Amino acid sequence: MDRPAVPQKRRLVTALPGPRSLELEARRTAAVARGVSSVFPLYIEAASGAVLVDVDGNSLIDLGSGIAVVSVGHAAPTVVEAVADQVARFAHTCFMVSPYEPYVAVCEVLNARTPGDHEKRSALFNSGAEAVENAVKIARHATGRDAVVALDHAYHGRTNLTLALTAKNLPYRHRFGPFAPEVYRVPASYPFRDPEGMSGAEAAARAIEQIERRVGADDTACLVVEPIQGEGGFIVPAPGFLPALAAWARANGVVFVADEIQTGWCRTGDWFACDDEGVVPDLVTTAKALAGGMPLAAVTGRADLMEHVHPGGLGGTYGGNPVACAAALAAVETMERLDLSAAARRIGAAVRERLEALAAAHPGIGDVRGRGAMQAVELVRPGTREPDPEAARRIVAACHRAGVVALSCGSFGNVIRLLPPLVIQPDLLADGLDVLAGAVAAEG
Ligand SMILES: *Cc1c(COP(=O)(O)O)cnc(C)c1O
Repeated sequence: MDRPAVPQKRRLVTALPGPRSLELEARRTAAVARGVSSVFPLYIEAASGAVLVDVDGNSLIDLGSGIAVVSVGHAAPTVVEAVADQVARFAHTCFMVSPYEPYVAVCEVLNARTPGDHEKRSALFNSGAEAVENAVKIARHATGRDAVVALDHAYHGRTNLTLALTAKNLPYRHRFGPFAPEVYRVPASYPFRDPEGMSGAEAAARAIEQIERRVGADDTACLVVEPIQGEGGFIVPAPGFLPALAAWARANGVVFVADEIQTGWCRTGDWFACDDEGVVPDLVTTAKALAGGMPLAAVTGRADLMEHVHPGGLGGTYGGNPVACAAALAAVETMERLDLSAAARRIGAAVRERLEALAAAHPGIGDVRGRGAMQAVELVRPGTREPDPEAARRIVAACHRAGVVALSCGSFGNVIRLLPPLVIQPDLLADGLDVLAGAVAAEG
């Protein structure tokens, strides 16, 4: 059990992209809206563990996990088995019509695993954005207040309300407005770009001053925060920032929503990134790694807030689909059994050592940061803090051509992030990092 079916080795048999990928890319261009783009046109036919096999038979190292989704590995055997079993029983009834146990069991797991031992309730949805929207609905319902505060560099999704919360214009917001009203943005803690030596408490005070002056604590329903900002650039806030924001929220009756969609489920070396400083959010949104590759999202939180909403006020046709729920139960069981938090810490230490050595040799790497198996480098023009997004683009493309799937991110597009499956084997990870190092070295 849990042994990947595809050999865990990088193996290239064509130039990348290969001929069959190029054929598919031509079909895609004629059929798929170009607004939906891909990082690199390698079409995947099979995957297992941390290896993707493309349609030309190339085996690629996956250092992105489909954006932090397959933490338990591609085609994790327990997930495959649970999905097959559930889909053969029944694939859908709609939980709001005819309920079923897996939905209840997933909510029990969520209530037990998310930070804090207070009484909780959960509700299930299809996507991260939908979970964030519902967290805002619940916070507004429970507080009777309108305003929602998000941070600079935030990413919370692509629906209209979550685009209002998301900070970056291109590619997310450009020409898609007008956005939902009563959303306000205040500064985050970004140690690499904040004034030298700014503490977490000082960064929190800067944000709180703006909320109080521009929005008003009494008019604020919720504060929505990624404990480590993902798409914004793997920005780890200065210690003390999150606890200070959470304490201010509690003192002012503002619902503190932790968006753990990217950071949750062992990725950072804890079950949740909030655990690192003992922050207990009022509501937490999770998705991505929750169901081992199946689409599932959740809002979990204080029972008094969750139960404020009238019966029928939350839901959706597919939310908490039984197949996705079965996958989630298997995925979380796998995280527990294989202790994937410990694996994330081991991966983090190995990645960090390599990235720091790279940074010491290459002045184009301005910062190395992250936690657990969520590590990144920020690229700058040597000797400055000026972002170098072109270098990030070239390095990511070079990695892909060499058979390593890596991703960029960041408000300035200049961050390369590593999110390997937490089951990646050490030698495969080392090979992937060698390729990255070669691509960085080629920058001179
Ligand atoms: C990915 C992500 C979302 C959106 O999730 P979708 O499933 O793509 O809608 C929201 N918040 C964070 C922090 C994310 O990383």
